[in-house]
This record gives sequence, structure tokens and C-alpha cells, in this order.
Amino acid sequence: MEIFNFGSPDFAPGSVWLVGAGPGDPGLLTLLAASALQQADVIVHDALVSDGILAMANENAVLENVGKRGGKASSRQSDISLRLAELAKQHKKVLRLKGGDPFVFGRGVEEALLLAEAGIPFRVVPGITAGIGGLAYAGIPVTHGAMNQSVTFLTGHDPAGAIPGGLDWDALASCSEVLVLYMAIRHMPAIAARLISAGRPMSEPVAFVKNATMADQQVVETMLGKVADVVDGGRVASPSIVVIGPVVALRNSINWIEKFSLQGKTK
Ligand code: SAH
Repeated sequence: MEIFNFGSPDFAPGSVWLVGAGPGDPGLLTLLAASALQQADVIVHDALVSDGILAMANENAVLENVGKRGGKASSRQSDISLRLAELAKQHKKVLRLKGGDPFVFGRGVEEALLLAEAGIPFRVVPGITAGIGGLAYAGIPVTHGAMNQSVTFLTGHDPAGAIPGGLDWDALASCSEVLVLYMAIRHMPAIAARLISAGRPMSEPVAFVKNATMADQQVVETMLGKVADVVDGGRVASPSIVVIGPVVALRNSINWIEKFSLQGKTK
């Protein structure tokens, strides 16, 4: 295919490519990610990687799903890292395909550290993260020159599943005009309450974007003071990216998918 004439590196047997698949729309894959799908022997992927992207794999590639899906529990992080090393030692071309960007709340770094320690050659291919590209598909830019000079990306839960205790919510509330939260649905009511008690207005706009960039993308807009109603009322579900701040209001003008009846997908 002509688009591969960009000089993609060869995928060496015995190596691992740690690749971001972007938020879901196959059109948002990088050329390196598409090339890896064509070359890989084994594709170890998360549940977040969309079917449309997996359909681009070469027909001989073996797919291994290590995410939660179909009632099966997800594999433990250490098991995934060991599996990657094992496959590489079998001289496979191992594609580790992760949703969004592998180094943004993706645990890709744990895998890279283990591979580095084991002396297994690997390459990192960044991807479009849900907190930027996913929001763009909802018509929400993460910065606007006149609205915010900063944006903070945070996780909505710590490794134990609790609301992140290491974060200084008062400082976040006062210094970051825009907050983008990953994996946050469950703790959003508590997070909203903390931000409000730290001085953020009840009326501050909030958006939840579910299945961003996919054909079934859903956006729920609300305000900080109503987040608990929206979450407790079951109006939002995982996987969603959450954004808090004035930029959410720009969706009224920029929401290009609905304004121009465009699907995220081109086919
Ligand atoms: N590495 C990924 C993030 C993994 S953490 C990235 O860079 O995007 C998983 C969280 O990412 C989900 O709980 C959700 O908050 C967010 N997410 C990933 N893909 C998404 C999508 N298509 N739509 C909405 N949220 C998404």
C-alpha cells in the first residue's frame, strides 16, 4: 500500500513494539502503528483497542486479548509484561497495542521497564490520547488562548482503586483552569465535591465523552454542581473521558460531528 512508503523500520523478530492505537477511530492510527499491524506475528492488545483497528491486522497475526472483555478478568500487569518477554524470546514480532498513547495512564511504562531490564529490544510508538484527540471529536479543545494557560491530565483513581490521595485538590482547583480526567467515572461525585469546596463554581461546565471517536460516541454535558446526579443517575458509563473547565462551552460552536453530520469514521 502506498501509504507505507514512508520508510517504516522493519519489525525485527524477537522485538516488541509498544504502540498507541489512539482512541478508537482507525483513521487516527499513526503510520507506524498501521505498519506494525501489517508486520506483527502476535498482537497483544487491551480491551480498549477497537475492533476496526484489530481488523487491520495481517491475516496471519495471532491476537491475544489481555483486557477485560466477555466476562473474563483482565490479566495482571506483571503477567502481561512477562508474556511480552516470553513471546519475544520465541523470536516473534510482538506488537503490544494499547488504547490511546502507551505512556499516558496506560501502564506502558511498566512494560517498557521490564523489557529494558530483560534486554529485549523494543520501540515505542506514541498514539493520540483520549484526553486530547477524544475530546477534539466532541468539539472540545483542551486549550483556548483566551480561556486557559494550562491543562492538567489526571487519573480518577489510584492503583488501589481509591480517589487519588496523592493529589492536592486545593492546588489543582486554583492553578489549573482545565482538568482532564481518565478512569474517573466512579469517583467523579467525590472529585466534583472536592473541587467545589476548593472554590470552583457549581456552574462550571463539565463533559463526559464516552467511546470518543467511535461511531457510538456519546457526550453528556453538565456542570460541576450536577455531576453527582449525572453519575448516580447512570447517565454516564465507562470508558469515558471527563473534562472540566471553560473550554467545554466551546462545544456549542465547534461540535463538528453533529453540526456537519459527520461520523468519526470515514467508512
Ligand atoms: N492510554 C490511554 C488511557 C488509558 S486509561 C490514552 O492515552 O487514552 C483508560 C481510560 O482512558 C478510560 O477509563 C477512559 O477514561 C479513557 N479512554 C480511553 N479511550 C477512550 C475513548 N475512546 N473514549 C473515552 N474515554 C477513553
